[in-house]
Amino acid sequence: MTEGQIANIDLVKQVNAAAVYRIIDQQGPVSRIQIAEICQLAPASITKITRQMLEHGLIREEALLESTGGRRAIALVAEQQQFQFISCRLGRKSLHIGLYNLAAAELDRVELPFTEREREPVIARLKSELTSFIAKRSKQIDKLIGLAITLPGLVNPESGEVLYMPSLALAGSPLAHEMEQHFGLPTFIGNDTRSLALAEHFFGASRDCQDSILVSVHNGTGAGIISKGKVLLGQNRNVGEIGHIQVERFGKRCQCGNFGCLETIVSNPAILERSRELLSRGHASSLDAEQLSMTSLCIAAQQGDALAVEVIRQTGEYLGQTIAIMVNLFNPQKVLLAGEIVAAFNLLLPAIRQCVEHQSLPSFHQHLPIERAHFQSQPTMGGVALIKRALLEGDLLQRIMEM
Ligand SMILES: [Zn+2]
Repeated sequence: MTEGQIANIDLVKQVNAAAVYRIIDQQGPVSRIQIAEICQLAPASITKITRQMLEHGLIREEALLESTGGRRAIALVAEQQQFQFISCRLGRKSLHIGLYNLAAAELDRVELPFTEREREPVIARLKSELTSFIAKRSKQIDKLIGLAITLPGLVNPESGEVLYMPSLALAGSPLAHEMEQHFGLPTFIGNDTRSLALAEHFFGASRDCQDSILVSVHNGTGAGIISKGKVLLGQNRNVGEIGHIQVERFGKRCQCGNFGCLETIVSNPAILERSRELLSRGHASSLDAEQLSMTSLCIAAQQGDALAVEVIRQTGEYLGQTIAIMVNLFNPQKVLLAGEIVAAFNLLLPAIRQCVEHQSLPSFHQHLPIERAHFQSQPTMGGVALIKRALLEGDLLQRIMEM
């Protein structure tokens, strides 16, 4: 056999194993015969694949009483407690690290200030923090199977390379490969917003749909589009850069070089800047320009402060225009919003909904839920989704069976 043929056989094995694992994970307890029927594989193949998974502790057998005749049947379920992984989110100012098991339960977490900017110090700090995090938790770890990193930048999730990151000098760096070499763990990286959209799909607010959009307002503005249960990726593996849609032709200069991009109006710094501008004109408000934050702005808006309410409403309008474009393009079953501004969701939503209703097709926006994202305060959930995806698609599954 040629090398190519061997590689093909390996790929078929991986695809079949992934198909079997997905059924056990999502439909278990399920019998071998049921699995064979669902995935159209020979019972002998199912026996072989499930034997390997049992040997590696990925699944376990459970006795089930069959409804007909009370005969005992053996069913299979996924084993999730004994495998752990690390998920971290590397942000502009902080590093979140979490320890999880395969059931996506958070076992521990830390949040650390992060001031490194240049490539070498960033990587060195990341390595040392992860090393000490893992070392301190040896009692909670049975079997460490992977590492996931999400960050606010453009990444190629397949090659594990950072393509663009405005806040840290990581562009061009093969981050996943470097971490994998250092820790000896399968490593997956992803854009934080896209990964969060996937986390909502697997475990959160969009669990019930195959097509959804998550819009996140943070230091910038971005979106993650889930289509048929997968993150939609373009040719450079990044779709959803809505922050750079022009919404004001003669607007402010954006960090990307263009003018009037959405994130020059709808992003935390832009929203705070506009609030300060209105305050400086002398409008009456309970807000203190010196102490202004997204939290204080949202609280003031909730308490009826007219200036704060107006800032939120205007933000909702610009956001709504862009969401309407996305609704027309992608026809999602649900739209989720993430970011600190969601604290004023009840004021933001009417402005968004009005735009969506005026600017998208009626059959697309009728009964379209626009909701808060579930994992607002758990930034490491994005990485949990990357691990789950790698397991369900077979890549990580294969590697666990080779460990
Ligand atoms: Zn821009």
